[in-house]
Amino acid sequence: MSLLHRKPAPPVSPPQWAWVEDGLLEINGTLYSVRAIHGGYELRKAGSAEPHHVHTEGEPWSCTCGDHVWRGRECKHLLALRAAFAEGRA
Ligand SMILES: [Zn+2]
Repeated sequence: MSLLHRKPAPPVSPPQWAWVEDGLLEINGTLYSVRAIHGGYELRKAGSAEPHHVHTEGEPWSCTCGDHVWRGRECKHLLALRAAFAEGRA
């Protein structure tokens, strides 16, 4: 069986999230700063040099983290951001 035909990883369980303040989102106990970028949002973990970009223009949304890019899953960033925006705050 080739790598191209491997089964996708199981879905990520829904993340716990909360707006701490405007532009600061907690996902599964980790704080991320959220800022608008072209085509979506940048999520940066406190102290991390490598931000994740969540693209929210059009469906499906995508994210630049390994969970989404390599495992093809809706990652916790994407799921948390979608849920957080559905609540009407950002
Ligand atoms: Zn992600």
